Amino acid sequence: MAVVGRRRRGAAAVFCLTLGLNLAGILAAQAQDDAAPDARRTFLLGNMEFILFHEMAHALIGELGLPVLGREEDAADSLATILMIPDEPDEAMDAAVAAAAEGWFQSYEASGGDTAELAFWDEHGLDPQRAFAIVCLMYGSDPERYQQFADEMGLPPERQETCPNDYALAVLSWNALLEPYATEAAGAGQAVTIQYEEARPEHAHLKEALIDSGLFESVVAGVAQAYRFPEPVSAVLGYCDEPNAFWNPEERTLVLCYELAAYYEELTTARQ
Ligand SMILES: [Zn+2]
Repeated sequence: MAVVGRRRRGAAAVFCLTLGLNLAGILAAQAQDDAAPDARRTFLLGNMEFILFHEMAHALIGELGLPVLGREEDAADSLATILMIPDEPDEAMDAAVAAAAEGWFQSYEASGGDTAELAFWDEHGLDPQRAFAIVCLMYGSDPERYQQFADEMGLPPERQETCPNDYALAVLSWNALLEPYATEAAGAGQAVTIQYEEARPEHAHLKEALIDSGLFESVVAGVAQAYRFPEPVSAVLGYCDEPNAFWNPEERTLVLCYELAAYYEELTTARQ
């Protein structure tokens, strides 16, 4: 599992992902509920998958002591994206990547799009920048296949030009860093403990959707089995009192908060 680009497998972390969410904006958005259930599920799970890969990128960086040039948050987004892009035409996987990009656009819109409130100082890129970075890497992985996608997402032609190189460099860089740590065979990696904390009644369906999706197994366990983590790792779906997700380096635990899943569900609802 040394090769990172295209196909799922991959990476881990250090800090939380402070998402900078504006809940007030979302709650103020009209809650229309006429989205197709499948589309809503794709949106929710595509975003959850991206976030789990993003946190596992932090885990890899921290646990393996990987060097990072530039912002770690950008690097984590980059790895999450290239791991989610399918290597064969796969509409479901394409939709998951598109959902992750759309999620950042939606998050920005939900904040009211007030440029005076933008956190230019933040360790994360601005939400629309994170969205376009995903679109650029996806387009760059196969310009012919994703031309319409890039156009529809509003990635200008002048930016599209550089995306194939962006994608190639991202794959080259992550492969160079991770290849020495690739495990020899499936099952050769560290043990992974996954825990789903009891959900409040209003979040029970989110717990069920995440368990049914197998995302914790495919992403967290997938990455931990693909690379030689020095210690066992664990993942928890639980409550945090804020919509967030983070890698806890002391406990070697990835935490995905119910509040974050609920936040994305609200975004899905609000995007009508
Ligand atoms: Zn992060």
